[in-house]
This record gives sequence, structure tokens and C-alpha cells, in this order.
Amino acid sequence: MNLSSLKEIKKALLEKQISSEQLVQACFDRIKEHDHEIGAFLHLYEEAVLAEARQVDLDRASGKEMLPLAGVPMAIKNNILVQGKKTTAGSKMLENYEAAYDATVVKHLRAAGMIIIGDTNLDEFAHGSSTENSAFFTTKNPWNTKKVPGGSSGGSAAAVASSFVPVALGSDTGGSIRQPAALCGVTGLKPTYGRVSRYGLIAMASSFDQIGPFGHSVDDVAEIFSVIVGNDEKDATSVESDVVVPELISQDVKGLRIGIPKEYFIEGMDSEVKKAVLAAAEIFKTNGAEIQEISLPHTEYAIATYYVVMPCEVASNLSRLDGIRYGHSAEGKSLLETYLAARGEGFGPEAKRRIMLGSFALSKGYADAYYKKALRVRSLIRQDFDEAFKHVDVILTPTSPTVAWDIGAKFADPLTMYLSDIYTVSANLAGIPALSLPCGFDQGLPIGLQLMAKPFDETCLFRAGKFYQTVTDWHLKRPAEF
Ligand code: GLN
Repeated sequence: MNLSSLKEIKKALLEKQISSEQLVQACFDRIKEHDHEIGAFLHLYEEAVLAEARQVDLDRASGKEMLPLAGVPMAIKNNILVQGKKTTAGSKMLENYEAAYDATVVKHLRAAGMIIIGDTNLDEFAHGSSTENSAFFTTKNPWNTKKVPGGSSGGSAAAVASSFVPVALGSDTGGSIRQPAALCGVTGLKPTYGRVSRYGLIAMASSFDQIGPFGHSVDDVAEIFSVIVGNDEKDATSVESDVVVPELISQDVKGLRIGIPKEYFIEGMDSEVKKAVLAAAEIFKTNGAEIQEISLPHTEYAIATYYVVMPCEVASNLSRLDGIRYGHSAEGKSLLETYLAARGEGFGPEAKRRIMLGSFALSKGYADAYYKKALRVRSLIRQDFDEAFKHVDVILTPTSPTVAWDIGAKFADPLTMYLSDIYTVSANLAGIPALSLPCGFDQGLPIGLQLMAKPFDETCLFRAGKFYQTVTDWHLKRPAEF
């Protein structure tokens, strides 16, 4: 029985080959055996969850009509609120913060009957590309524990890659679902901005943040997406949109127009990554897709634009964590000293760096030169995509210029770390949906393929991705037991 696919799990539950309690227990057993080597989880909700699973089993046994995902275990990133649980955002600042309510996505998952068995590690406040910025510990890559899992949702990606859980949620502000999905060899989706409610997600940069799913396959990611999608009166930026029915997604790519942006195949990209991504394009072509070269002329400004606008929003969002209204408290002789001590002790170096960058770029005299200018470039980047999507349905690129790197290799050099986000930040700047899926290996480490589509066209991503996974088996590979 393959318990890393939702289809198999649902079938096993329906045919009573396994109970939900056994399934959840199997997850905990596996986590206890191996997570000390990986560090995917921050908290496990063991007792409560086993009782929940038993209840699902009782309901099923009594002949009650069950929802398809009832009793299926999953994990969520620890910046998404689960009532009564510690939601730390990977920070000392919120180490003891207990969520007062469930995030909207959590409500949706519960309504579908899913069982959240625990929460996963992340870079502090989702700032990072390696999960090394967590205030607690560094998550390891299940394919090679000397390597980073990517970030900031490294815990969720590693939890799925290690088959601790079949699916998990992450959040993506500049690539934090897609890049760890790529580095850990799993599938991950950043939805269109506004399709999934951000209510109950600890904000990083509010005009970029989106919650999205990780799974082994496009099918599983599409299914979880269809559970969490939807308008929410508690998130003013969320919108009503048609729900994608995963079963109805065509698997044919005949006539699908795929664009390859010339600006993405640049120096700094590993040759093996390039080879694997172009080989994927070839597969689409031989099966009837039309491949064309396209241009996204402002790509070279994407990193700079993201790393100006994002910290401005970060600085603003983190200002509420002053140890009085929210967050870690400290003693000081005056109000100012109290603030300084609380924020000095509570925030790690990367959060402080971003608060300083953002405060500087927003300050009087500099806001026009930095923040406002970056907003204008953001519009140009968005226009590049609008123009491209007049000619193509999907844009195909690598997710990350390299495979996973050694733990520590980029830690001391933030700029090098920022540059690793080169292929992912544009989708967040433009608000468009993007999917990462495994497309090969280099030195035993997974390579990720990124597909982007126009706003609200996740279905097109699923169609292309699903097709790719019916003709390749990269997504079926699992790391050797660590
Ligand atoms: N790596 C990017 C950053 O450091 C993206 C983070 C994210 O998507 N949460 O900002």
C-alpha cells in the first residue's frame, strides 16, 4: 500500500484496509523513528489527534456518510494559526504564543475532515531560503542530511519528502513553497494572490503572501488546493473564484502554448538544472504542446524589487511585536528600553536585517527613491507577464538555479542567499500562480521545474503538471532511508 498518495490513502480508508487511527499512528511512529535526523516538525499534537482519528473511525463504522478526505493526516507550517497550539513563526518572539483561533485554511481542512497531526519548522517569520533562520533548529534535506531543504517552508517540504505525512501546507512570499518543494523533490503550489485566505497566517509581506499545498503529485496538490481555496470575509484581499475540480482536469497538452523566457537561462544556473528543465520542455513538445521563446524583459530587476518592497512590508508587519501588545516581553528602565530589549532579544539576525532595510527604504527622503520606485518596477514586471500570457498559456522555467546546497554554505552571506530566489520572486511580484514539480536529479539531489500561468488559471498548471507526471516518474522517487 502506498501511503504517500491521497488516492491510495482514501481507497484504503474506504475499503477499511486501514483505520484512520492506524494511519495517524503510522505517521507518528515514522516521525519518532526518523525526525530526529531531519527536524521537520516543531510540535506534534499526538493525544488530541489520536482521539480525533478514533472518532472518524467510529463515524465510518456506524455507516455515516464520510467526506473523501475524512481521517487523512497532514501537517502545516508553524506560521498558520491552529487554535490552542503554539504558533511560533519559527521565532523566539512568539515562542510561547498560543493561537486564539483557527486560520481560515485550518477551518477548511477540518471541515473536510482532515487531521492536522503537527506543525513544521520554518525560517523565522518565513524569512529565508534554507530553514537555517529558524530560532529553534535547522531542518535537513531528506535526500542528503548535510544539505539544506530550502526555505522558508523547509519543514513542510521535508515532512512530505520523508513520507511523514502525505501532504502539508506552506506559505509562499517569494518562493517558500516552490523552492523547498524543488530542493526536496516534491510538488508544491503557490496559488494566485487572493485565492486562498490569509486570515490566520502570520503576515510576512502582505501583498505577496499566499498559503499553498505540498504533496508528492499534482493530483494531491490540486486536491488540497480545492479544499483551501475560496473567498473569506476576514481577508479583504481574498476573492471569489470557481473551484477547481481535480478529477476534471484534462491530461492532454495538445495545443498548449508553453513559453520559455530567454532571461531565465543565465549564468549562475547549474548546467544539470538547465538540461533537466529543457528535457521537460522537450517532453511537452513531443506530446503536442507548442514551445516558444518569450521575453520577460524586466526579470533582471525582480530580486532587487522584491528585496525592497518585501522588507518594507515586513518592517510594518513586525512593528506590532513590541513585547507589550504582542510577543516576547523584556524588562527595561524606560518604555524605549523595554521595546529595545524585547525586540533585541526576540528577533533573530535576519528579521532584524529586514526590519532595518524596510524602515530605511520607507523613511522620509528615501521612500520615493526606493519604495515607490520599486513599486513602479513591480508594475512593469506584472506587465511583462500580462504581455507574455497573450501569447502563451504556461511559462516554463527552473524553480531554483541549483540543487540543494550544503548547510552553512550561504548562511553568512545573505546576498548570495537572496540570489537563489531569482526564479521564484517574480510570480509573487505579479500575483500569478506557480507550481514546482520534480524533473530530475543532480548528484542525487532533486531538480525542480516551475510552471507559471495567468491569474486564476491554476487549472492550466494542473493540466500541464498532471500530464508531465503521467509520462515521467520523478515524483515517485523517494529518498533512501536516512
Ligand atoms: N526566500 C525568500 C525570502 O527570503 C522567500 C520567502 C518566502 O517565500 N516566505 O524572502
